[in-house]
Amino acid sequence: MSTVSEALDWATDQLRESDDARLDSQVLLAYALNVSRTWLFTWPDKALDGATLTAFSALIDERKSGTPIAYITGYRDFWSLRLKVTPDTLIPRADTELLVETALTLKNVEKPCDVIDLGTGTGAIALSLANECPSWRITATDINPKTLAVAKENATALGLAVSFKESAWFDAISDRFDLIISNPPYIESEDPHLQQGDLRFEPAGALASGQDGLDDIRLLVQHALKHLKKDGYLLLEHGYQQAEAVRSLMAEAGYTAIYNEEMKLTSMKYLKNTRGTTTGF
Ligand code: GLN
Repeated sequence: MSTVSEALDWATDQLRESDDARLDSQVLLAYALNVSRTWLFTWPDKALDGATLTAFSALIDERKSGTPIAYITGYRDFWSLRLKVTPDTLIPRADTELLVETALTLKNVEKPCDVIDLGTGTGAIALSLANECPSWRITATDINPKTLAVAKENATALGLAVSFKESAWFDAISDRFDLIISNPPYIESEDPHLQQGDLRFEPAGALASGQDGLDDIRLLVQHALKHLKKDGYLLLEHGYQQAEAVRSLMAEAGYTAIYNEEMKLTSMKYLKNTRGTTTGF
């Protein structure tokens, strides 16, 4: 292999076990060359030098061993932002953009609004909202200081104003908010998907939450009430089979109106039709 198209054919064959071998190959070759994927389609006959081929082949080996693409390249695009990711952070999913979208419909985007993103990971939700709503006052928490450091790096790199706080859910939080948002862990601890694909490489604490996957959601539903302002909302992502359970938890806790948004789109195989968003206030 010496041209772009030959290298892509070779890599696609090497990665045949992967869900989308061609896309993986394109992303990794674009990364090795520091160009966009579009560049690859424009210059299929371009010859690749030895150093590029060696680097590309090392990237393909890493992917072959199962490492998620985002951990190899070190970033993932979410909403309109490019976010740094590390093995200390969950890889943001396109599904979670529904939380951002819903948040923007719940409150006036032009007026001040106090918002908290609990378990921020890369900062995906908080930073997307900060980017859309400069007048919102946004706080983001994470229990893991290493994760929080990545979120802070993302905020600095993007020039976005978010206050970060190390906290296990509400433990270090005393304020009240107009909007409490979280994409908490919600996978059942015995779910076999945890041993498959990208999930094997992601922080277990960011994914699983007890036998029925609802341990953290239960806690959030219960404690959020004390941190909501009048007309405030709690906005949670959860598994698609959990909508009824989350609705009941919210109803029992005394939330007065509960909506569920069905997921329309998903790009990750393990998540296919598995996510929903429920809002209560
Ligand atoms: N809020 C982050 C995200 O949605 C991290 C969520 C998590 O670690 N469970 O990507």
